[in-house]
Amino acid sequence: MRNEFVKKFLRTILISACLSFPLARLAIAHEYTVHIDKELDRMTVEARFDSPVSRIHVRSQSAGDYLESAVDCDTGSRLRPRQRELRLPAGGVRCLDYSVDLRDAARDERRNSSPLGDSIIVSPAAWFWRPRLSGDEVIRIRFESESPARVSVPWLPVDGEPDTYLLTASPQSARAPAVFGDFEYVESEVPGATLRITLLGDHAEPRALVDWIKATANNVNLAYGHFPNPLPSVVLIPVGSRSWGDSPVPFGRVIRDGGETIELFIDESRPIDDFYDDWTATHEFSHLMLPYIRSRHRWVSEGFATYYQNVLLARAGQYSEQRAWQKLYEGFERGRRSMPSQSPNETAAYRSRGGTMKIYWSGAALALMADVELRRRSGGRETLDDALEQLARCCLPSDRGWSGPELFRKLDEFVEHPVFMPLYRRYADTSGFPNYRVTFARLGVEVVGGTVRLDDDAELAALRRAITTSPAAR
Ligand SMILES: [Zn+2]
Repeated sequence: MRNEFVKKFLRTILISACLSFPLARLAIAHEYTVHIDKELDRMTVEARFDSPVSRIHVRSQSAGDYLESAVDCDTGSRLRPRQRELRLPAGGVRCLDYSVDLRDAARDERRNSSPLGDSIIVSPAAWFWRPRLSGDEVIRIRFESESPARVSVPWLPVDGEPDTYLLTASPQSARAPAVFGDFEYVESEVPGATLRITLLGDHAEPRALVDWIKATANNVNLAYGHFPNPLPSVVLIPVGSRSWGDSPVPFGRVIRDGGETIELFIDESRPIDDFYDDWTATHEFSHLMLPYIRSRHRWVSEGFATYYQNVLLARAGQYSEQRAWQKLYEGFERGRRSMPSQSPNETAAYRSRGGTMKIYWSGAALALMADVELRRRSGGRETLDDALEQLARCCLPSDRGWSGPELFRKLDEFVEHPVFMPLYRRYADTSGFPNYRVTFARLGVEVVGGTVRLDDDAELAALRRAITTSPAAR
């Protein structure tokens, strides 16, 4: 119900830029005004609740250390934190004023070890003291920042009200970044979405990076024509060449917390062409085609994103057909050698050391097998893309975490004959690795001495080519 409501709201925002949304329908329970000083030293917050609240909490264990003062604004009495809660008087409070030492909080945030220029990242987990939300309740937050400081958060922007956002219920996969300071912010349109892009640090060619982000989102649009989240936040954090490995995007992740953020750590010294050839961003963006899958079934979300990163880069023309299958083959083999004595569910649940390749590639093998089975049975009428498009229409963005089986059951509702749960039952709790080689043989993906060769006379060769072909070119 609530999800329907939020989705309707999101779509409404997109349909009309000048629309003034009837906010009363959204059951705004609490109003926050947040003031940020231009030196980024201090944040002061006024919170007004529509009825007395008996609990006010924060997510970070250390948030109490940054809280300078908190006052019940009705009585003027001081409120003290105990662990992650404020100690409130009997009967609760109707309003709260508090201030936070932003600099102190920023020192504890590892993301600030990057050269962020005149900006800091302080997750709401460290400063957002708030009541829990229930039902269709939302919190409206208005920022007042002293120029040149500005704010970037993943929350829903309220149309026509600058620097004002709505916070609705959401999964909490990690701590969302809230960015304060003087940074580059760009909104960029792709089919189905307005990308809200925050560029931190100094960049010689910010426009070229924005174009790359847009191209990456459009890679995902090669699945079913539109982006799965209408208002994703994308945060680019420079790490320079000192970073891990040789990739221009050494690390990326999706954070579902008050909205969906794609956080990309980039080596800003690399030429822009290198970014287009790198898979990390396409992998991260692909995650948004699924809701947040809880960590005990992590292999499902990592697997689908891993399958799609290869397929989509081929559809986009970045990979040749041969290269895409070579990468899938090499990945499957890494996965097959990783934790062979465990099932995917076990590796995910125990967070087994050395199990990363199993997590990523067992799920990717299942995604491939589901895709091939759907296409084969239906003569190409049904594909994994189609099932995911229906999922986007019914359920994304989702305001909660899902289990793996719940997702697979839902996907089976969208296809003529179940494909997903049978694969789940067969492989999720089975040690070893899904038998992808039978699928490869039928597709005409032969491996000779570790190198993939494609056989165009194979039984399912046309189906294989369709997987790596852009829908527009089919
Ligand atoms: Zn991933």
